[in-house]
Amino acid sequence: MLRNSVTFLGTGGGRIVVFRQIRYSGGFWLNLEGINILVDPGPGSLIRIYEFGFDPKDIDVVVVSHRHLDHSADINSVIEAATESKKNPLKLLVAPDDVTDGEDPVLLKYLKEGINKIEHVEEGKEIIFKDIKIRGLVKHIHEGAKTYGLEFKSQNKNIVYVPCGKFYEEMLIRFPENADLMIFNTTFPKPVEGYYHLSIVDVEKMIKKLRPKKAVITHFSIPMLKANPEKLAKKIYKTTDISVIAAKDGMRIHF
Ligand SMILES: [Zn+2]
Ligand SMILES: [Zn+2]
Repeated sequence: MLRNSVTFLGTGGGRIVVFRQIRYSGGFWLNLEGINILVDPGPGSLIRIYEFGFDPKDIDVVVVSHRHLDHSADINSVIEAATESKKNPLKLLVAPDDVTDGEDPVLLKYLKEGINKIEHVEEGKEIIFKDIKIRGLVKHIHEGAKTYGLEFKSQNKNIVYVPCGKFYEEMLIRFPENADLMIFNTTFPKPVEGYYHLSIVDVEKMIKKLRPKKAVITHFSIPMLKANPEKLAKKIYKTTDISVIAAKDGMRIHF
C-alpha cells in the first residue's frame, strides 16, 4: 500500500517554528520498495509516527542528516520504540559520526546495543541495505554539525534529500540530475546573511539546473510561512515547468 511514498511527519524549520510547534518536526517516513526509512526524527517524531498511522516497529532504517535538535531530538525515543527496548534490534542507523560518537553525541550509549549496524555518512560513500543504496553526496556548510546531502536509490527510483545548509555552487554539480523526487529544506524566502540555510532563491537555482521529476519544499521558518510556501512553489513551477509541492504536516506523496 505504501510502496514508494514519503509522508511528512513535520514541515517546521527554524527555532521558533520548531520549538513552538507552529509546524510539526518529526522528519519524514520514506517507504522505498517496501523498506521503511525514518529520516530526521526531530521533536515529536514518535508521536507523529503514531498520529499518521505508522508503527515504529516497522522501521528498518533510521537516517539522521545532522545532529541539530530539530533533526535528532527524538532519535532515542524512536529507537527505543522501534526495538521494543532493544529486544528487536534496529537493522541500520545512518548518520554522520558526530551523531553517534565524539564529545557530545545525540544517541545515548546504551541504545547502541539495540542497533545491528551503524554506518557513518561520508561524501561519496555508498551504504547498501537490501535492495537499496544510501549515498552521501556533498558536504553541506552548516554550523556546528556535519551535514551531507543524501541519495536513496532503488533499482527503479532515486530520491534526493537536500538537508539544511548554506547554498554554494558545488551543490549544483554534486547533486544528481533528474531524480524521481528531490526534497529541499527550504528555510527562508530569500537568502539571509549569517544563516546557514537554504532559501527559495537557492532552491529555484537547483531545480532549474538539476531538473528532478518532482520537488518538495519543507522545513519552513516564520518568514517562509508568511511568504506562503504554496505560492512560492507555484512560482518555481511556472519558471521551470517542474512540479513543486509545498509540504504540509501529514502530507503523503507517491513517486
Ligand atoms: Zn541544522
Ligand atoms: Zn534544520
